[in-house]
Amino acid sequence: MAADTDIRVLSRQEIEALTAELGEKPYRARQLWEWIWKKGARSWDDMSDLPKTFRSLLSERFLLRPLALAEEQRSSDGTVKCAFRTWDGHIVEGVLIPTPTRLTACISSQIGCSLTCSFCATGRLKRIRNLEAAEIVDQVVEVDRLARKYHDQGLTNIVYMGMGEPLLNYANTLRSAERISAEDWLGMSPRRITVSTAGIAKMILKLANDGARFELALSLHAANDAKRARIMPINEQNDLAALKDALRHFTRTTGRPVTFEYILLRGFNDTLQDAQELVRYASDVHAKVNLIEYNPIDAGGFGRTEPRDAEAFQQHLQRKGIVARIRRSRGRDIDAACGQLANKNEPALKEGERLLK
Ligand code: SF4
Repeated sequence: MAADTDIRVLSRQEIEALTAELGEKPYRARQLWEWIWKKGARSWDDMSDLPKTFRSLLSERFLLRPLALAEEQRSSDGTVKCAFRTWDGHIVEGVLIPTPTRLTACISSQIGCSLTCSFCATGRLKRIRNLEAAEIVDQVVEVDRLARKYHDQGLTNIVYMGMGEPLLNYANTLRSAERISAEDWLGMSPRRITVSTAGIAKMILKLANDGARFELALSLHAANDAKRARIMPINEQNDLAALKDALRHFTRTTGRPVTFEYILLRGFNDTLQDAQELVRYASDVHAKVNLIEYNPIDAGGFGRTEPRDAEAFQQHLQRKGIVARIRRSRGRDIDAACGQLANKNEPALKEGERLLK
């Protein structure tokens, strides 16, 4: 029977059991583990210190199919956007975002997305499939390599804020975050890993009940149900009241605060009334707020809030006791908005656009 499972779905214990089952000494399990998780082996042939017979047996039972870097775009502000090609020919995106204090990787959890938020280029791709945990980790490996290449130091933070809704790929999101924080791998503190969700109340409850150790951010973008539902259809099944209950449960259970991501869309959600609604909602959840400058997408229909209006919005929040920071948009001279590179590369989408013309 042909192999159909990537070896990197196996836990360390499963690798040890497999190694024993194939008649190899226990230290071979450690070597194999290091090849697939630390040394970035791209093929069985790369694992030069493993016996050929062992590699051959492994290749009969398992696949090894890491992401390949298909395109890299560097912005004048240091942002590096990567298009990765999956083994089945799709494109997902990962971004290196350098700031004076951090080197952050923004990574994807799905190919495309089913949630169709109107301001987002990824939402136009539709969901093609979930990424496997190893494919999520591959993005971190590659962006970490770029951080070392361009900045002489590894990543300091990871955000699951690229393509896809991580809580709709729950098991692989948790498994990849565990891998990234494992002592025998990147060893990154879970406090430096943030999973950002569009807001699925029952999955937020599950995260809390499962003892997830990473940070949680909610893509809020409007603190008013009617307005939020216009740009995020997910709000119809997960309204602000349900999300508030889930987030309160999360903060009570984990002892950690949550962050609201709020993209400022000119004339849509950046008025004084929007700020007042946001103050009330954020106060109820004890959330801090990241105000994000919008990176307009083609035909998205939204514009970027003027910097002085963004500052006035921030000051209103701060006067009311809400911790609020402005996140400047990055990589304006490249296709930096989430999903733009994939939109350009995705054959299925291109074909769909051609048919629509
Ligand atoms: S913003 Fe996030 S959840 Fe919404 S369509 Fe884009 S990728 Fe999906």
